[in-house]
Parts: sequence; structure tokens; C-alpha cells
Amino acid sequence: MNAYPWQIPVWQRLQQAKADNHLHHALLFSGEDGCGNEEFLAALANSLLCLNPDSDGGACGQCRSCQVQAAKAHPDFMAVKLLEDKQSILIEQIRELNYFLGLSRSYSPRRLVIIQPAERMNVNAANSLLKSLEEPAPDTHILLLTAHPGLLLPTIRSRCQAVRLPLPTHQQALAWLQPQTLQHPIESLLETALGRPLIALALDATDTLSHRSQWLVHLTQCLQGQGNITEISAYWEKFDKVQLLDWQFTWLQTLLKQKANGKDAIITGELHHLHSLLKPRRLLSIYDKLLELKKLSTHPLNPRLFIESMLILWRT
Ligand SMILES: [Zn+2]
Repeated sequence: MNAYPWQIPVWQRLQQAKADNHLHHALLFSGEDGCGNEEFLAALANSLLCLNPDSDGGACGQCRSCQVQAAKAHPDFMAVKLLEDKQSILIEQIRELNYFLGLSRSYSPRRLVIIQPAERMNVNAANSLLKSLEEPAPDTHILLLTAHPGLLLPTIRSRCQAVRLPLPTHQQALAWLQPQTLQHPIESLLETALGRPLIALALDATDTLSHRSQWLVHLTQCLQGQGNITEISAYWEKFDKVQLLDWQFTWLQTLLKQKANGKDAIITGELHHLHSLLKPRRLLSIYDKLLELKKLSTHPLNPRLFIESMLILWRT
């Protein structure tokens, strides 16, 4: 497989550009994490290195280039990524890249470089890359990948051709997840993963969804005047506070959106209780107060007290 279904139009466009000899020497790919973007760049690099690509442009998997690439020993390929324990891509790594670009090409038709996460290049590293972007080496393509294109230096962005890798539509994500063997409901997985199918799949292998359902049960209990706030806070004390907050934001946003659309009758499923118990004004008020709490979530507060202050918002 060269590309996920939602990436196929981009794949075809790039393969056409290659066939027309118009593929830009520096491509800046941007898109959300969890949508298969790293896999896309790897498949694209392999296809451009391959000596005998398929009819759709994909790497053959058999030739000398494909085999050496699979063994991570391709002389015409270089990947620049974060080194272990480092928060940035360093200038030394880009110097090494510039040296690589000065060498002559080996047996593949092109040389390929992948830099990701590109926004993590520190200023010195980014400046050091500029020259290679301005004066491209022959038969060489530099592929940059980022989930945050706005964080790149404008001078880097302006020297690259931007390629947007899309988030799949809900239907595409469902269609991709359906054949997988899942233990949780697809819709809940996708909602928790904010529509990103690879994250949804990874979530399925964890207990996250059952934690999420339990949290919803506890919030509903508070809203109904049931449940003991002290006990519930103790239950969640060791849990990630930001995660608990984010789940509440997702639910409140869904409810607010549905109320705004006037789709009162169609709320079924897990949010049914919240929907019937909360008036729009109350929804907004909880939302605003949670936003206030979010500002405090990175402070080293007593976790139990923090969770209590969330739960109190839900109690009438
Ligand atoms: Zn090949």
C-alpha cells in the first residue's frame, strides 16, 4: 500500500508531477498526527528511489534500491529526525545533511531526504538548511513533514512547495477502521481520537475508552445529584487531569453544536443523559469555568482538589 485512501489524490498528484518532471525539489507536507503522514512520506521516498516502480508509481519492493532501503542502508537516502533525548533537530544534523547533499548520487534515479518533525529544527539548523533549499542539488528531493507549519521559519516555508495531507472524512475513517478487529465501538474510538484513524486504532488496544466511559458515568451522577464527590475525586486522583478536562470539552462541544443545530431529538447513545439534563446556558457556564480550570491544569496543584473543582461544576 502506498497511501491511505484519504491520501490517494495527493499521491496521484505527486506521481503525475514526477512523470512530468515537475516534482519540486523541496516539498513541505503538513497534516495532523495520527493520519498516516509519516507512512505516506516513507512510501513516497521509496517510490522515488525505486528502480522499477509499479504502474501507480509505488516502489516495487524487489529491486536493489527497495531491498537496500528496507535494510535501512540506502546510500541515496537520509532521514533527519529528533535524536534520542533531544527536543530539537540540531545544526550538526543539518550540516551532516548538507555534506550528504554534496556527495554524488549512487544507483537510484534520485536522492531523497526526509526531515520530520520539521518544526523542531532550531533556528541555527533551519538557517543552515536554507542554502540547500535555495541551491538545490541535482536529482534531489527534500521532503519536510510537520503538524505545525506555522512554527517553521517563513524563509523555510517560502522555499518549499506546500502539500496539505488531509484529515480523512468521517466516512473514510469509518471505512478504514471497519475491517480491523476492534474491541471497542468504532464511533467512540473515532470521537476520542478526534477523527484521526491511526490514533483510533491505537486507542483500541488500551483501556482509555473504558476510563472515558467511567468518567462520563461519574459526571452524569454528579449532574443528577448522586455520587460522592470525595470518593469520585479519589478514584481519578492519579489520572491525567488534562485528559479528563479534554474529554469534558469534547462532550460539551458536541452538545452545544447539536443544540445550536436544533437537532434536539436525535441525541442517543452515551451523551443522552447529559443532553436531557443540561440547558444550553448551563452548558456554556460549565464550559467557561472549565476553561478557567484548564489554565491551572499545568500547575502542581493537589490533584484531588483539582478534580473536585471540576466535579463541583457539574453538581447542580
Ligand atoms: Zn523497487
